[in-house]
Amino acid sequence: MSSSSLKTNLLGLTFQELKLIAIQNDLKPFLAQQIYDWLYKKRVSDFAEMSNISRKNIDFLQNNFYFEPLKIKIKQVDPIDETTKFLFELSDGNLIETVLLAFDYGYSVCVTTQVGCNMGCKFCASGLLKKKRNLEVYEIVGQVYTVQKYLDQIKPGVRVSNVIVMGIGEPFDNFDNLIKFINIINNDYGLQIGARKITVSTCGIVKKIPEWTKLMPQVGLAISLHASNNEIRNNIMPINKAYDINSLIAAAKEYTEITRRRITFEYILLAGVNDSDECAIQLAKLLKNMLCYVNLIPYNPVNENSYQRSKNVSNFANRLSNMGIQVTIRQEKGTNIDAACGQLRANNEKQ
Ligand code: SAH
Repeated sequence: MSSSSLKTNLLGLTFQELKLIAIQNDLKPFLAQQIYDWLYKKRVSDFAEMSNISRKNIDFLQNNFYFEPLKIKIKQVDPIDETTKFLFELSDGNLIETVLLAFDYGYSVCVTTQVGCNMGCKFCASGLLKKKRNLEVYEIVGQVYTVQKYLDQIKPGVRVSNVIVMGIGEPFDNFDNLIKFINIINNDYGLQIGARKITVSTCGIVKKIPEWTKLMPQVGLAISLHASNNEIRNNIMPINKAYDINSLIAAAKEYTEITRRRITFEYILLAGVNDSDECAIQLAKLLKNMLCYVNLIPYNPVNENSYQRSKNVSNFANRLSNMGIQVTIRQEKGTNIDAACGQLRANNEKQ
């Protein structure tokens, strides 16, 4: 299987696109279904293994397409909780991170959408390296596909059941590729990852929320809020200067009213920055009567900045809860490996 630049990577094609290609080439549209089945369900490694596809069609596929897992440069496994972090090397040499997380409800993959990130959140390791480019659809799909192939080897029969788009990059800044990626992994003929088992996290690119609501009403939406007022949010998240908290909350509210789906607000607790009792009260007021919950995130310290983990996590959670806000505290995973988003890549790019 060669990955000639003239050939198209099958992992980047939605089912509809593949069907159209078949029709345009005077082939039966059913070919799309067969290809998805071999590629994503049976997960063969070569066109030659697609035994119910005619010789003529195999030749057509071989001449025009290729598929292959991403190249694993480094793999780190947390010996305690099984969290597995992959550093993949893309064909242009760029490095991206993907994480496999084991939960009691199944295996979840955390995917990256960009090489680097331009959002500039002060506490985050991803932005240490500015955005170089958006990931192609096949590179985002490739992360789930490659991790699934890895699971096939170490745990035959076990599926990736959940996908979270919370790796490096801002998914709403690579919107069209994000939508195609979700369509591909969600397709019934393919990996069949349920829309409700996919969650996308955005730092709050407000202008994209209505489009998202229309296109993906069943997919989970999480918003990185991390502050209870504009002053604090402006200091730690530059995106707030483009879209302030009020516009973000208004868009989130509209999302919940249209979809009737609960929205998640992520809130990293940073010592002395956003973890006071006053912040909890402000936050509760901001989210009052909204179909939402707050996911409190213990901060993963990053060497390059001075933010510290808050000691006020359970008190903050109790305060929110007493004011009628649903709240969870994120389970920590992978604490024995380079766990913070972007850390594995940042550490390797510097070498
Ligand atoms: N750009 C998107 C998705 C990527 S970040 C977003 O902002 O939501 C995924 C989540 O991890 C975000 O909530 C982000 O704020 C958080 N995060 C970033 N650095 C972190 C760190 N060092 N410790 C804990 N959470 C972090």
